[in-house]
Amino acid sequence: MLQPDRETRAEWTKTVTAFVEEFIEGLEAAPASSPGTALLPPPPAETPGGLADLLDRFSGAASQAVETAGPRYLAYFPAGGLYSSVLAEFVAQATNRYTGVASTAPALVAMEHSVIRWLCDEFGLPAGSGGIFTTGASLATLSAVHTARQDRLGAHDPNGTIYVTPHTHHCVAKAAHITGFPPERIRVVPTDAHLRMDVPAAQAMIAEDRAGGLRPFLIIGTAGATSTGIVDPLDEIATLAHRESLWFHVDGAYGGAFQLTERGREILTGIDRADSIAWDPHKSLFLPYGTGVLLVRSEALLRAAHAADGDYLQDLDHGTGVPDYSDLGPELTREFRGLRIWLPLHLHGVAAFRAAIDEKHDLADHLRAELAKIETLEVLPSDLTVVVFRSADSEQLLKRINDSGKFFLSSTRLDGKFTLRICVLSHRTHREHVDELIELIRRLSA
Ligand SMILES: *Cc1c(COP(=O)(O)O)cnc(C)c1O
Repeated sequence: MLQPDRETRAEWTKTVTAFVEEFIEGLEAAPASSPGTALLPPPPAETPGGLADLLDRFSGAASQAVETAGPRYLAYFPAGGLYSSVLAEFVAQATNRYTGVASTAPALVAMEHSVIRWLCDEFGLPAGSGGIFTTGASLATLSAVHTARQDRLGAHDPNGTIYVTPHTHHCVAKAAHITGFPPERIRVVPTDAHLRMDVPAAQAMIAEDRAGGLRPFLIIGTAGATSTGIVDPLDEIATLAHRESLWFHVDGAYGGAFQLTERGREILTGIDRADSIAWDPHKSLFLPYGTGVLLVRSEALLRAAHAADGDYLQDLDHGTGVPDYSDLGPELTREFRGLRIWLPLHLHGVAAFRAAIDEKHDLADHLRAELAKIETLEVLPSDLTVVVFRSADSEQLLKRINDSGKFFLSSTRLDGKFTLRICVLSHRTHREHVDELIELIRRLSA
């Protein structure tokens, strides 16, 4: 009963495809957000349900949401969810290959590894580098902090100290907490007028901490801060890290993709000197949620920090020549995560991605320039595709924009003050949407 016959399969697939088609076609006109309630549906019945009915229920629930897939979602980090990636996921899950250990599907692991190798080249990492696809940058960061600790401190040392800025993402503090470093071991380095890490200040703090008996071991540079898109002086941080023997982790969860464009590569200068880089293809490569990546300068160090074995795995061959991903991260069983990035890259071609990232960059520059012309607004420093600004009553302005149902934006705090934030990143967002937003803001700011 759990295995439907061919006819039923065809019917189910048709029902699902029709639903998805209608959903995608409706995105242009869909409201930017719809109110929702979190009422628990009844538990599963003992008897079978009908797929069309169940999909209707899903659709009803999914529609009470912020329209994160639509072209007018410009809050947080829009991830449109490439259709090619959705299809890849369908195929990968249908074949259900095991890729925790390479020998059960070596050619598939090689496909996934080819993307990691390509990314290492794009980021300028040397031979011996490597990495792993994760479910997101938070887990990539956890593995990076754990690897840094193992490599630089050896055994756990509660005196290990980590350097961040006020604009570092909270996933670093979370990873530090999980790996056993209390909040007071996270040292917050001040930033310069451009909100970038003040590297001489970091150097002074490191010296002071060493003198106080602490063990500085990890410094975080952000490539594309969540609130502002601003990039820390990565090259300078790399020099400091090298001099002080600190592990240099770059949080490029958002900004990493800009390494694929000429303009972006210039902004990210120094990223090739990182010991580890976290990046989210589910942000700046337009993939559906659930795809992050960790790249490391030394795959051997990542393996040394994560490898484990069990008697029940003794039949497996570990000499395939491609990584056993279970040795490079906390997971053992994992789906064939590589196809959801491999297929889009090959199907669309890399140039299409470089062009799309450049397009978003242009759109954000256009937004910054046009908003600066509105007298009642103050446009603050930002970079890449994030735009931040204030008005006399920023909270009210945000509410009015979002209440329009046309666009959905989010906010942040800069210098302790409420600030509106726009991020242009969906593959579905184009010039006409951005111009429509500028018009709306102009009207509401008059
Ligand atoms: C989004 C983000 C993260 C967290 O990534 P998840 O994929 O949500 O786990 C970490 N750092 C930065 C800079 C981010 O923008």
